[in-house]
Amino acid sequence: MFDNLYMLTTKVNSAWAVKTSAGIILIDTLYGYAAQDEIVDGLKKVGLDPADIKYIVVGHAHGDHDGSVKFLQDTYHPHVILSPKDWDLAARQTNPYSQDMDATDGQQLTLGDTTITIYITPGHTGGSLSLLVPVKDHGVPHLAMEWGGTALSANTSKEMLQSYISNAGRLLDIADGAGADVIIGNHTEYNDALTRFERTKARKPSEPNPWVVGKDEVRNYLTVVRECAKSWLAIGEGRP
Ligand SMILES: [Zn+2]
Repeated sequence: MFDNLYMLTTKVNSAWAVKTSAGIILIDTLYGYAAQDEIVDGLKKVGLDPADIKYIVVGHAHGDHDGSVKFLQDTYHPHVILSPKDWDLAARQTNPYSQDMDATDGQQLTLGDTTITIYITPGHTGGSLSLLVPVKDHGVPHLAMEWGGTALSANTSKEMLQSYISNAGRLLDIADGAGADVIIGNHTEYNDALTRFERTKARKPSEPNPWVVGKDEVRNYLTVVRECAKSWLAIGEGRP
């Protein structure tokens, strides 16, 4: 999708490979069933070596994002970064991966020539992570933003909804201040990823990169994220 960013995807989830001068930072890992076809073979298909994965940043400890962590950890031995609260969630899995590094809020993770920034934005889980990732399009720098935990439901507690709302607002300010102009995500349907993927494949050299949506669109996206949680809260409060 960019000079240094590759989408590894199923129809429901996206994982992202950030190529640096010293190896790969993998963001999320899809369900376990996609480990071979999408992560391992997907990396090879775009000319990358899965053995170069140095870090896996897991957005949150749900199976559609961390399902392949154990396989990748056992096979390639990268560091795995997860928020402290989600390590508890991960430990409850049937065949858990090994606890490794804690994410911290505002953490700058540098590998080679690339530094991504990690924010702890609870709401979807107690420790969902959001990210800022510097990318380049034909050498021109842009900044990608990922809002980590997207889905809400009638079971999401009031406390978690309030946390979701305040963190969406906080990330909106952070992304805006940092000049984020690209939206990436971990569920394909929430950022039109598959359509953008097709548009990227069909893109002519003179055409703009479909992933570069501009600062206003990033602001709008995070505003909608926040407003959706506000609606859930209002529905909950209106319930008899
Ligand atoms: Zn989830």
